[in-house]
Amino acid sequence: MSFTRRILMVGTAMALGIAGAMAQAFPTKPITMIVPFAAGGPTDTIARIVGEHMSRTLGQTVVIENVAGAGGTTGITRAARSAADGYTIMMGHMGTHGAAPGLYPKLAYDPQKDFTPIGLAAGTPIVIVTRKDLPVKDLKEFMEYAKKNEKTINQAHAGSGSVSHITCILLNEMMKVDPTPIPYQGTGPALNDLVSGKVDYMCDQIVSVQGQVAGGGVRGLAIATPSRSPSLPNVPTTLEAGLSMFQVSAWNAVFAPKDIPADVAKKLQDALVKAVTDPATKTKLEGLGGVVPDAQRASPEALATLVKTENDRWVPLLSRKVKQ
Ligand code: ASP
Repeated sequence: MSFTRRILMVGTAMALGIAGAMAQAFPTKPITMIVPFAAGGPTDTIARIVGEHMSRTLGQTVVIENVAGAGGTTGITRAARSAADGYTIMMGHMGTHGAAPGLYPKLAYDPQKDFTPIGLAAGTPIVIVTRKDLPVKDLKEFMEYAKKNEKTINQAHAGSGSVSHITCILLNEMMKVDPTPIPYQGTGPALNDLVSGKVDYMCDQIVSVQGQVAGGGVRGLAIATPSRSPSLPNVPTTLEAGLSMFQVSAWNAVFAPKDIPADVAKKLQDALVKAVTDPATKTKLEGLGGVVPDAQRASPEALATLVKTENDRWVPLLSRKVKQ
């Protein structure tokens, strides 16, 4: 064997060895999980619960970074463009990866092509919530009140394309009401203003409103699912409350930039499945009203299918001018 050939072989073996060791070692430093909304909202809440458990499995901290703006698309754009090495991941949701292409014709990412799906973290039913002193006691009275006070009533949401925005578009259409929209960087800050009575109502994911509804800080008028949530047993379903057509649940899921190494993706996917199937994590998420997936529904394949079905559902529906 020639000297050059031997050198080449040794070089290749070393390169393979290093690559193998790198994959084996991943992660050797903290992982950043970008949450594309303000702290305290549903996406942030789920990211912190799931991220904490993933940290334990991966042996490195999963650091939450809130990068809010443009209904979550600012943070997701940043995350999509970060290095494809598994050290930057993100918590996306029904808005950022399902609906956004229908509202942003120049969206900088393609939800179906520009990500490595890691897996579903939690389903999040939508609850219609109002400030506690709005003079209505149930959904029927709210619908009448909103119609009568259309010129003055306002509705909070987390930016164009966010879940609170798109789901209340549906609700407002059904109620035939055109409220003044008040956009926030996330429903965390929006909920604070709902509690203090600065805004009138919103459509939010159960995990961030559950505590305030149960504690009486805001009023939960109805949950948009076929049956009541065990975490809010006194809140009627929209079916019971007289608006059966309003049925909508959101979801939050972990993605990485596209083309991360397969073995790194597998480690992240396994850590996510471990997190959501862990009894303590599951209890925490379910206590807030989250619907926790089983291992199959938390798989990357299931998430890829979900993103596609959600694009097919939301994009045609939203591809028209909407008031933001
Ligand atoms: N998920 C967002 C948040 O965490 C809110 C939204 O999409 O409506 O604030």
